[in-house]
Amino acid sequence: EQSRLDKVISLARHRGFVFQAGEIYGGSRSAWDYGPLGTELKENIRRQWWQAFVRGRGDMVGLDSSIILPKRVWEASGHVATFSDPLVECLQCHKRHREDHLIEAFEAKKGRKPENGMADIVCPDCGTRGKWTEPKSFSGLVKTYLGVVDDESGLHYLRPETAQGIFVNFTNVLTASRKKPPFGIGQVGKAFRNEITPGNFIFRTREFEQMEIEFFVPPAEAQQWFEHWVETCWNWFIDLGIDPENMRQFDVPEDERAHYSAGTIDFEYRFGFQGSEWGELMGVANRTDYDLSSHSEASGQSLTYFDQASGDRYTPYVIEPSFGLTRSMMAFLVDSYVEEEVPNAKGGTDTRTVLKLDPRLAPVKVAVLPLSRNEKLSPLAREVADSLRGRWAIDFDDAGAIGRRYRRQDEIGTPFCVTVDFDSLEDDAVTVRDRDTMAQERVPVAELNEYLADRLKG
Ligand code: ATP
Repeated sequence: EQSRLDKVISLARHRGFVFQAGEIYGGSRSAWDYGPLGTELKENIRRQWWQAFVRGRGDMVGLDSSIILPKRVWEASGHVATFSDPLVECLQCHKRHREDHLIEAFEAKKGRKPENGMADIVCPDCGTRGKWTEPKSFSGLVKTYLGVVDDESGLHYLRPETAQGIFVNFTNVLTASRKKPPFGIGQVGKAFRNEITPGNFIFRTREFEQMEIEFFVPPAEAQQWFEHWVETCWNWFIDLGIDPENMRQFDVPEDERAHYSAGTIDFEYRFGFQGSEWGELMGVANRTDYDLSSHSEASGQSLTYFDQASGDRYTPYVIEPSFGLTRSMMAFLVDSYVEEEVPNAKGGTDTRTVLKLDPRLAPVKVAVLPLSRNEKLSPLAREVADSLRGRWAIDFDDAGAIGRRYRRQDEIGTPFCVTVDFDSLEDDAVTVRDRDTMAQERVPVAELNEYLADRLKG
């Protein structure tokens, strides 16, 4: 029996939300490709986020900074020194492990002779007992070499978070947008991490997308804004349909926090992984003045704010809500997946699979379905589809039994199916079927646009 998560993943793959990167060459574990439906879903999440957190607020502006930044940015941010994990490698199969119990066991035995180091620790991959290297630090930064000479002088890092591009532009944005703290900068974009163990579908990849906010505040207001952002982020997920039973907050203890953080609350989502069901979805951190101070010191440029009203110059504190866009997409897919028993035409029941995605996120908003493939119905149906396309993502499907076509749309979360039948030729009306209730309503073609707009929330 497939787990629910496995079913979601297999649906996402066969319906074209997500494909394995480079699949025809055996695929890569580092990244995934987003297919026709995945592109739409991801774009809709991004758009909702941008509207809620950037465009919809008077105290936020946007930025799109580069993926490649001067190396000194990552030295100043602390990433070159600290963005690493301890690893042990099995000398038999050469698989590397960072499983905490292996590292702990090793640490506990440190001080003994190396040959006894992990004498009784078995490699989870090949089963060999006790053949291990010393723990080595493994950098999470993805490296690239730029310029004509392929040597260390060309070494650059792909950003492991979008945040630093925001910090180094602090003064630029402040001056250009004439904002003053409390205000924030939002950014959506790719980030790269040399994850040791990518996996769990799009949950952990080496190339992924983030949606980040760096919110700059007077230090005395940091706690209050931290709480504001925790609440606002929580509500954003709930408003877009995440079941609160499947999300929880974790107040990260000091010794587990990132080097810059004076407080972090992670949101965890019940992805349904084997073993531990929960995984981090996003985090809100109080980064204090760590980043602006570090960059001021390292660059010699003062990243401070002069408050004319009080005559004070200070380094703002930063509250950072950091979302994974691709990880959020996985949460929305998992959360919306439903299998339910529905009555069929023969008086029995069928099982149908539905993605009960919020209409604002659904990759296809409306499917136009001529009752059958027919030279009279198809032109009218195409006309209806074209009239809606200016506004929404529309699917058109005239192949196969109508019941099967409804099911295919349910499976990808299409909120409405519009059926054009022979009566439509007489009464200029169509049948609109609601995904969740499966109720059908007759709607005049002339009113269709408005009918759908009211229900699609945009
Ligand atoms: P994890 O503990 O899962 O590795 P993290 O604590 O390192 O995550 P952050 O540095 O706080 O993550 O990054 C912010 C957000 O970016 C995460 O909450 C997650 O949504 C997303 N993210 C981080 N790493 C990855 C990854 N490898 N693949 C997909 N999304 C990621």
